[in-house]
Amino acid sequence: PRQTQIGLMSPAELVSEYETQQANYAKLGTEKLTLDLTRGKPSPEQLDLSAALLSLPGADDFRDASGADLRNYGGLHGLPELRALFGELLGIPASNLLAGNNSSLELMHDVISFAMLYGTPDSPRRWAAEPVLKFLCPSPGYDRHFAITEGLGFEMIPIPVRHDGPDVHAIAELLAADPQIKGLWAVPNYANPTGVVFSEEVVRELVSLPAAAPDFRLFWDNAYAVHPLTDAAAPIADVLGMAAAAANPNRPIVFASTSKITFPGAGVSFLGGSTANLDWYLGHAGRKSIGPDKLNQLRHLRFFGDAAGVRAHMQKHRAILEPKFQLVLRILEDRLGASKVASWTEPKGGYFISLDVLEGTAKRVVALAKAAGIALTAAGSTFPLGNDPEDKNIRIAPTFPALPELEQAMDGLATCVLLAASEKLLGK
Ligand code: PMP
Repeated sequence: PRQTQIGLMSPAELVSEYETQQANYAKLGTEKLTLDLTRGKPSPEQLDLSAALLSLPGADDFRDASGADLRNYGGLHGLPELRALFGELLGIPASNLLAGNNSSLELMHDVISFAMLYGTPDSPRRWAAEPVLKFLCPSPGYDRHFAITEGLGFEMIPIPVRHDGPDVHAIAELLAADPQIKGLWAVPNYANPTGVVFSEEVVRELVSLPAAAPDFRLFWDNAYAVHPLTDAAAPIADVLGMAAAAANPNRPIVFASTSKITFPGAGVSFLGGSTANLDWYLGHAGRKSIGPDKLNQLRHLRFFGDAAGVRAHMQKHRAILEPKFQLVLRILEDRLGASKVASWTEPKGGYFISLDVLEGTAKRVVALAKAAGIALTAAGSTFPLGNDPEDKNIRIAPTFPALPELEQAMDGLATCVLLAASEKLLGK
């Protein structure tokens, strides 16, 4: 491991550092790697944890507790027993939670599309009729969130992320002044990619802050609600209850799914909200579909049994994931710790590690890695429009690769970070 901060090196030391990393990088090139640290997908081993789902619910199991035949149309709210089970995990009464098909991202897209086309229950006009539409985007954040609001023509305003959630002071100022701000992307637990968990104080601010737009919405994406990597699982804020207490009951719309619990391609999504929001959503969704895949919901209910079953299942994921996260953090510390040209998050849950390299070098690092056969998420993708103003953030997704590949990829990445930093400091 290196002894010296790169920024404190003499010119001669810096040249020697550059030459060392160039040699390391040349060696990397001879290894003909094809490694991938891009998307946050579960590994095959994690998918195998849910293998029993493939033979559930079984040949003659197709009714819910009330006797309804789940093979048929209907049941737009989703299976009541599964709504109750996930309601318990998410801190939402079953009556305020819907169960849907396999993608919560689709629900988010639907909610914004419905607001565009019809307006929300609190909108003076449909969003599409507004002269300008704006959305608050805590960054670094999730690229697919930003893609939705980009596609629908929102002006996206980046908001800094602090250790306890998005910068509420910045939000307060913007929100009070600008009626064109219609929403905020939020991942309250183990955020993608920072791992940040919103503090109770931040949640209280977000549900209470005065907003110029009467139809301002928090898109509360709790994708990693039950995904701790330590014994102390982060609490889940009662965002709907807190919003109601703050006289803004319709502000939050909660999303979640079993994508990172069972199968991303065949899981169950959830949408939570006030009665007014759910009635509004169902009014429009009911014209789109005569009901979700309730047999898949039943399969999930049988697989888990109860909320404790989900928590126990998540411990099996943790057993697979924790060593991967520890490996990534160890390599970052060993290879980059003393150099002080990078900093990174140490998440207590979720799917990602967020790496900040020397300002102005993230694109170069990703290009160097790519040329060496290591695929990284495009630099900038954690910011709206792919524009990281400081060109420093890189999202690392450690879940999919096996440990040996992960180790090779991270070691290679560290070399690229050091090479790009010494190039930059030498003005190359
Ligand atoms: N939200 C966040 C924050 C995510 O990281 C992901 C998956 N990477 C999703 C949503 C996707 O959810 P779904 O599979 O339910 O569409």
